[in-house]
Parts: sequence; C-alpha cells; structure tokens
Amino acid sequence: MDTVLLLPRLLVPVRPRLQVLEQMAVVLEGETIKAVLPRSEAIATYQDAGRIELPEHVLLPGFINMHTHSAMSLLRGYADDLNLQVWLNEHIWPIEKAFVGPDFVHDGTRLAIAEMLRGGTTFFNDLYFFPEVTAAAAVEAGIRACIGLPVIDVPTAWAGDENDYIDKGLRVSESWQNEPLLNTAFSPHAPYSVGDDALRRIAKMSTERDLRVHMHVLESGWEVDESIRQHGKPTLERLHDVGLLNERLLAVHMTQLNGTDLTALAGADVNVIHCPESNLKLGNGICEVGKLHDHGVNLALGTDSAASNNDLDLLAESRTAALLAKGYSADPCVMNAFQALEMLTINAAKALGMSNQLGSIEAGKLADLCAVRLDSLHTTPMYDVVSHLIYTVSSQQVSHVWVGGRMLIQDGGFLHLDVDEIIDKAKYWEQKITAQARAARSKEYNLHE
Ligand SMILES: [Zn+2]
Repeated sequence: MDTVLLLPRLLVPVRPRLQVLEQMAVVLEGETIKAVLPRSEAIATYQDAGRIELPEHVLLPGFINMHTHSAMSLLRGYADDLNLQVWLNEHIWPIEKAFVGPDFVHDGTRLAIAEMLRGGTTFFNDLYFFPEVTAAAAVEAGIRACIGLPVIDVPTAWAGDENDYIDKGLRVSESWQNEPLLNTAFSPHAPYSVGDDALRRIAKMSTERDLRVHMHVLESGWEVDESIRQHGKPTLERLHDVGLLNERLLAVHMTQLNGTDLTALAGADVNVIHCPESNLKLGNGICEVGKLHDHGVNLALGTDSAASNNDLDLLAESRTAALLAKGYSADPCVMNAFQALEMLTINAAKALGMSNQLGSIEAGKLADLCAVRLDSLHTTPMYDVVSHLIYTVSSQQVSHVWVGGRMLIQDGGFLHLDVDEIIDKAKYWEQKITAQARAARSKEYNLHE
C-alpha cells in the first residue's frame, strides 16, 4: 500500500480542539490517515514514502456539506426573489416536472460535485429524485456522499406514491451497501409533504437498519400553521409521535423554533442542519444557532441547492453562519471561528454517525482532506489561521483535495474530472430550460390577450 507524507506549513486537525500545529506531517496509507507526527520524525521513519510539500498551505479535514439537492445546480439562478411556496409551486416543481430524469440528475450532480470539490468539500448529504444516478455520479467522481432516498406525496418520473418511493429507495440502499464511498439515508421531503403512515414506516426502518433520516423541518412560518391545519398538532410533536425525533434525524433549516422545541430537540439528540444563505434568500426566517448551541444541540451546515443559495461554497456559508448568528443575537461571542469550522467538519461527521471515521485529522480516520493556500493579499498578515479560514479565505484558495487518500484536486486543478465537458452539459440544459420557459411565457401572454 502506498504511503505518502503531507508536509503543510500549518495543520488544523480540528480534534484535539483549537490546535494550530507547525512542522507536522500527516502520513497517508491507502485510504486512511496512518499517523500525525512531527515532520522530522515522519521523514526519518518513512524514508521511502512519497512526499507532498505544502509550504504555503494549511491542511484541514475535508468539508462536509450536510444539505444539498445536487442535481438542482442546473437550476442555479432560474427563479430568484420569491417566497418558498411560490418558488416551489410556480417555478421549481413545474420545471422539474418537465425535465427531471436520469440525464438531468447525472449532469446536474456532476456540476455540483465539481463545484463542491473545488471548494474543499469531500462529502455531501444529498436529497433528490433518481438517487441511484446521484450515487453513480459520486462514485465515478471519487467524492464521498450520503445518498438520500426521497419520499414525497407527489408522483414524479421516479416513483408513484409514498410506498413506491420507500420501496424503490430501499432497493437503491441495498444495491450500494458495499460501496465504501457511500451510505444512504431516508429522505422524506418535509412534514407537510409526507403522510403519517409513510413517516411511521420510515421511522421503523430507520431504527432497524440504522439509517439517518434527512428531512426539511420547520423551514418557514407557513409550515407551522400547515401542521396545525393538516394534523392538529405542531410539527415536532407529530415527528415525535411517528417515532422520528431521535439522534438519527438530520433536521434541515429549523427557522421556526420556540422554547419547547429547543428542549425537545436537545432531549432527543436531534441534529440540526443550518442553511443560512438559503433561509435568507427565501426570506424564511433565521435558525437560532446560539440558543441551539446553549441547549447542547449538534449543529452542522448545508448550502441547500444552488437554486436557492446560489452556490455550493461551504467556506462562504460558514462565514454567513458566523456573521448571522452574531448579528441576530447582538452578541459577537455567540459563534467563534473555530465553532464555525467544527460545523463544517466534526459536527457534520457526528450528525452522520461517522465521527470515528471523518471530521478531523487523526490516526485511523479516513484521509478526506483539503489544503488552502495562504500566500495571497487578503490573507496577509495572519495572526490566526482559523480566523482567516472563516472570515477571509475564498474557496478559490483551496488548492488540494483528497478523498479516501486519493488526490482529486492538485494546485487548484482537477485530476480526474473533465470540467469542460461538465460545463458544456450545463449549457446544453440552460438552452433547453430557457426555451421551455420562453414557450410557457408566450403561451401565458396569448392566454391573457
Ligand atoms: Zn433543501
């Protein structure tokens, strides 16, 4: 098995907490981190190993994007400046109905994967139709992913009713169970779009199979009223009653929390996935991360799709998260830079039940890593590298990325993905979608005449 020494200027392993190390080496052997030790000792011990010098770089754990709909990158900027229900019902769902199929998912997912890798993301937690296509695209690109098994009470090109979604999802889960880059999670779309019987079935199987449940929860104020109207009880009480309020739940958004909710989440060890830029852009509200943190709730970060963000840049998302938390609570201490970095790494690994494998640079963990160049105008001078990572660094400064010890990005360039082809495919979809939107608009114009 090949052994490689990574020799960075600085190392931020995330665990142990708050450490910034100099003159260190990270020893990779196959897909794992074999050792983290002083540079001189590593060079003496592993004389025959390959060496990668990173003299102007900080080495970090790869970032984990905890909420994506990767194929929707093809709808980046398609519909902006609208509230969630109008955005979904009048724009996103109709265009998805017209175009979503295996080719759309394949091409959109590859576009998303390339963007994520280029920004240091080594793992994405996805939720979309045709998950078997997303899974294949991830494996082909060499990125790690948790593939959501979608369930929604709306027939689509992928499945008919809720039980059909669940059955098809289980087949996808089983067919990829031996793929080391992947795991799977049930992904009921939202409390308002999945019925009680389906949620109960998902809860039971999630326990039996130890699968995560990745779900939009309390994204907007509309959803709070809708739960009372449809089900006669608040959302979290309903999720508790169907058996979903537990440590396997990855509850995305959570912008509408009251005091009772905070206690219930903390008591059940639910993981909250914060997507600040999507929440801000759709005007849905603000997830109160300071209060969640005070209650001991595990918090990780997601970008949501490029249709509501409109990028998949996790470093930028972490900056937004930190600034928003401070501004909203009028307390600059509510989230510090290191805590923001933890949301991108170890907290996400914990949410996935993978904190013994991912999220920090420690011996025995998987070698999912990224390096960031520090020799630029806007990272000079540098008193605290973690401060720079959250408040200053651009994702374009990510120079190297490894997943499972395999280098995928070197000096900012892709080693295995054909980016020109990915961009050409995205332009092809842009033309098709633009033509469809024009035709729909002219039809509407004629109707109104
Ligand atoms: Zn979403």
